[in-house]
Amino acid sequence: MQKIMSDCVFCKIVSGEIASEVLFENHHVVSILDINPIHFGHALVIPKVHYRDFLELDPGCYTSLLTGARIVTAALVKGLNLEGFNIFSNNGRIAGQSVFHFHLHVTPRYRDDDIRFILTLKKYQNGELKRYADLIRRHIEVS
Ligand code: 5GP
Ligand code: ZN
Repeated sequence: MQKIMSDCVFCKIVSGEIASEVLFENHHVVSILDINPIHFGHALVIPKVHYRDFLELDPGCYTSLLTGARIVTAALVKGLNLEGFNIFSNNGRIAGQSVFHFHLHVTPRYRDDDIRFILTLKKYQNGELKRYADLIRRHIEVS
């Protein structure tokens, strides 16, 4: 796997080729402000190594990634006096990923803000709950 992608905007941010507003940085992770925020203060937590998506991540970076996310989220909550926040990650174009270098979004939420996840929740019919569980369970691999 290639560690730095020359056409990747986040690799360029990590290397300093593209300027960004860095909130936090450690050996494995950098956190910056998203340039097109859902709310002001919307942060991204980005591994310094290029991984396309969640499934490509090296398990060795899980701890730094989540530790970085926690540090930045705690600072957002204190700095912006938040009552709530979302942490999410888009993986794959159909899921809304636009930068193909894995990252977590941390977004402030406010009472009565204009963000709505419009969801039509489904109901499992006869046997479907178990059928879906079986479809997934047979591929569970613990390494
Ligand atoms: P995705 O759509 O892949 O889940 O998230 C990518 C995010 O990166 C978007 O929210 C977008 O606004 C942000 N982004 C794209 N280019 C840049 C950039 O050059 N600088 C910063 N700070 N954020 C960027
Ligand atoms: Zn990259």
